[in-house]
Parts: sequence; structure tokens; C-alpha cells
Amino acid sequence: MKLVAYCSSCKKEIKIKSKAPTRPDLQMQRGDEFKVNCQNCGKMEKKHVNEVRAVTNNTIILIGIVIGIFSAIFLWLFYGGIATVSFVIPLLFWQQQSNATKSFNSYMIRRK
Ligand SMILES: [Zn+2]
Repeated sequence: MKLVAYCSSCKKEIKIKSKAPTRPDLQMQRGDEFKVNCQNCGKMEKKHVNEVRAVTNNTIILIGIVIGIFSAIFLWLFYGGIATVSFVIPLLFWQQQSNATKSFNSYMIRRK
């Protein structure tokens, strides 16, 4: 999972450097509003913690797929068959990412 905000002038993704698993955690780390710097157009702007979106990290899902492929090759070489586990691994990675982003996005901080 990665956290992003969207630039108000060029609409590009701005990555938020934080490992906060939930919105209240992010609020604790950064406060209600914090400055972000657009990597694309250089605009500095303030974002409210509710404007941050969690999106799935495709790199992690890709790692899951790679592990799945390797386990399939391994099982094929040693046992002459492919077990369901090879297909379940990438699915679990995807599910974990999907659940993490959903729980982040569904929780909004009450605006004062
Ligand atoms: Zn921008």
C-alpha cells in the first residue's frame, strides 16, 4: 500500500512518505494538514489528511506473482505437479493490499 494525494494544478499523484497504516495514524504523524510538494510541476500545497488516498502497491503484488511462479517451478521440478499454493500466494498478496487500502480509505477524520 502506498499513500498519495493529487496535485490541484496538474492532477498528478503526489507520494506521501509515510508508513501509516490508517488515516488516524497519518494524522498523528503529520497533523490535520501538511505540506506536500508535487514532483511533476513543483507546486507546494497544503493537503488535509482526508485528501490522502491509499492505493495498492503494484510492486508488492508483482512480488507475490513472482513468488507464485517460482513456487510453481519448484513444485513442478520436485513433485511433477503444480499445487494450488502457487496460485494462492499472488492472490493473498493482492488481498492483503486491497484490504489495507480499503480500511485506510474508508476511515475519514472528522473535520473541525
Ligand atoms: Zn503538480
